[in-house]
Amino acid sequence: MAEDCIFCRIAEGEIPSEIVYEDKDIIAFKDVSPQAPIHIVIIPRKHYTSILAIPAGDAIMGKIQTVISRLAIKFGVAEDGFRVVNNCGEAGGQTVPHVHFHFLAGRNMAWPPG
Ligand code: 5GP
Ligand code: ZN
Repeated sequence: MAEDCIFCRIAEGEIPSEIVYEDKDIIAFKDVSPQAPIHIVIIPRKHYTSILAIPAGDAIMGKIQTVISRLAIKFGVAEDGFRVVNNCGEAGGQTVPHVHFHFLAGRNMAWPPG
């Protein structure tokens, strides 16, 4: 755990959040500032600053993919569709330096996202 990391603190339960899924490796919770009717943040419990910090061959990406599928079913959007976003680094719009994936659904998404 990184002491000053807000997502590590959410994973530890030190900061309250509305958790929608958790297991020993991953936690998913509602975004505090939702950009869609359904906006979930998916994180590994382990602190990696960004997607670039995940070691090659680490199993976490496959586990995240499984959680994405579970969320699509849980929220009933597997058929309608949804969007998954990873912001990486400053130009990518990343504001919290603990790798995370946004799961967005419940409205039609524009492309390009801007
Ligand atoms: P980023 O901009 O780094 O891709 O996404 C960070 C996301 O975390 C933002 O959508 C922001 O609203 C969300 N966020 C930041 N702080 C908190 C918090 O304390 N609780 C929750 N639930 N979401 C947060
Ligand atoms: Zn962290």
